[in-house]
Amino acid sequence: MPSATVYKPSQKVGRFPWAIPAIGVAAAVILGILAAAFTGNITFSMKLQILVWAGAGAGIGAIVAGIGTALKCRNRALILISAVAALAVGLHTAYAYLATSYLSQVGVPVPLTTIIFDPTAPYNVLEGLAQSGVFIKNNKPMGSGALWFEWGFAGVMFAGCGIAAAWAVSAGRVFCEPCNVWVPVEPGMRFKTPDEAGLALLKQGDLSPLVRQREAGETSAAIEAPYIRVDYSICKACGNTGVYKLFNVTADKKGEESAKALGPMYVIDENSIVHIGVLTSKEPAPASAAAAEAPPAA
Ligand SMILES: [Zn+2]
Repeated sequence: MPSATVYKPSQKVGRFPWAIPAIGVAAAVILGILAAAFTGNITFSMKLQILVWAGAGAGIGAIVAGIGTALKCRNRALILISAVAALAVGLHTAYAYLATSYLSQVGVPVPLTTIIFDPTAPYNVLEGLAQSGVFIKNNKPMGSGALWFEWGFAGVMFAGCGIAAAWAVSAGRVFCEPCNVWVPVEPGMRFKTPDEAGLALLKQGDLSPLVRQREAGETSAAIEAPYIRVDYSICKACGNTGVYKLFNVTADKKGEESAKALGPMYVIDENSIVHIGVLTSKEPAPASAAAAEAPPAA
């Protein structure tokens, strides 16, 4: 089989591309405030703060990528940059709200708008409060270093889970340009893991080792790990735009499966369409199956 073509999105930004960062930032401000409002208590709970801030960050990342999908943005860089911008705004808002929340608890109410537009004010306020020893954990005042470690860790989780969510939600998407629609990827087909030579071919997108299995009449319905999984999708509207991706699925001692991609996502082109046709047929190809079962008498 001639070398397979790697699928590349068109990089078109879709309609209203500015709405992706704009709505993302708005959502980040709201979720940042909610996360800080929920955790900004002087009686400190690190586990709760990390959990809530990680969830808020993941929500922001998923919202940005979700808007990108809804607006048909095929430019993943725009989605990821928008997510980073939204997360930066959301995190600053969360620290600003945290600072005002603590201030009001020690009897110094300050409106959020007073400090949120100052890039350093929230952190100066937090540092001042940390030095004053008003934070209590296990009935003891907390030091500045310990506080910043916890605030910083919550912030890292906020940003990290946000980027991870935007990355995951925007990953592996396929778009049919003529039809202007996303093409959903079908659940994978299973095949026996071939030998090293066969795996090397699969890594290059060559499906012939799997085609040989199908032609030999081997069914794939009840294969358990280890196996090769073939994810594929073809645009239902035009039947032209299609992709496939191969995974090497293995199981650990507990039977927990993990899938490792064998190379990138490939386009179903004039060469691979025949192979995909054989793989997706429920029954083995009749001609070769008959030949295998009944070799012509000499
Ligand atoms: Zn199409």
